[in-house]
Amino acid sequence: MADIVIIGAGPAGMSAAVYARRAGMSTVVYEANMFGGQIVNTPEVENYPAIKKISGFDFAMGLYEQASELGAEFRMEPVVAIQGDAKSGFTVRSEFSSEPAKAVIIATGASNRHIGIEDEERLTGHGVSYCATCDGAFFKGKEVAVFGGGNTAVEDALYLAGLASKVYLIHRRNQFRAEQKLVNMAKANDKIEIVTPKIVTGLKGTDKLTAISVTDMADGREQMIDVDALFVAIGQIPAAEPFKTVVDQENGYIIAGEDCKTSAEGIFVAGDGRTKTVRQLTTAASDGAVAALAACDFVRSL
Ligand code: NAP
Repeated sequence: MADIVIIGAGPAGMSAAVYARRAGMSTVVYEANMFGGQIVNTPEVENYPAIKKISGFDFAMGLYEQASELGAEFRMEPVVAIQGDAKSGFTVRSEFSSEPAKAVIIATGASNRHIGIEDEERLTGHGVSYCATCDGAFFKGKEVAVFGGGNTAVEDALYLAGLASKVYLIHRRNQFRAEQKLVNMAKANDKIEIVTPKIVTGLKGTDKLTAISVTDMADGREQMIDVDALFVAIGQIPAAEPFKTVVDQENGYIIAGEDCKTSAEGIFVAGDGRTKTVRQLTTAASDGAVAALAACDFVRSL
């Protein structure tokens, strides 16, 4: 039996693993897709205290090495359920294995929101992408579009401007949600054309994307833009569905305050999947520490 099972190996989950191992707890970390979670998609992190600049990938790998060297055990398996309770102990079930645990930390974060238009799934991997850092290099010298108005979208546009011949940055409002510094950089970049207030309403292409249709939010007029790629960056949706009967949720986010304690004793939540207002790398790491120390206290109290 593990003292603590952590579900999700993003910045919150891996920070929790570092704190749990340093407190001497046996720790198993489950991850469904990729170590690092969403931060891997961020080309450059420039707002993590004391680190001036680091790629999201390097940040994630550094955290993974730190947690592994401290003795956390990682399993690449999607978790499907948490069973049991605080008194009799929990069992975390994945598709392939199960692990008994004294305490559980859910750090499953969120996954990319899709636009929900026709052919989006069919053209994913054939011009439609949710990760500029993963797929941007395929479109060197080509014309591409980014859809979204948050930090991810603007960072993606800036990153792609270093590769593509032209980047259309499409957003549904004239004001961007992204940090002003990033918006100013995008506006000053000759390769980036800002297209607002518009939304992507259609995708054209048989084997691969060749154009997108864009509809104006003010007058409803539609225009076609020829592009080889569309990078969708319109936010995330929480990934806590398998736990909806186990812990109280609100709009898919697990309800917990700054103490990271859920409605179920012995189960904690850390990172973007928690009900909170600021979802940043720093707050994910902070949640990881808080949830791990709370879980350690809980395990010691048994
Ligand atoms: P976000 O901040 O939630 O922004 C999502 C954007 O997509 C918004 O501009 C939103 O428009 C738009 N949007 C949402 N649903 C849409 C829809 N159905 N159709 C069209 N547009 C839609 O998401 P994010 O940019 O991925 O960032 C997520 C979190 O990570 C944020 O807290 C962000 O600050 C943080 N982040 C930080 C860094 C960094 O610090 N380096 C990098 C990346 C992300 P509206 O603005 O109109 O709502």
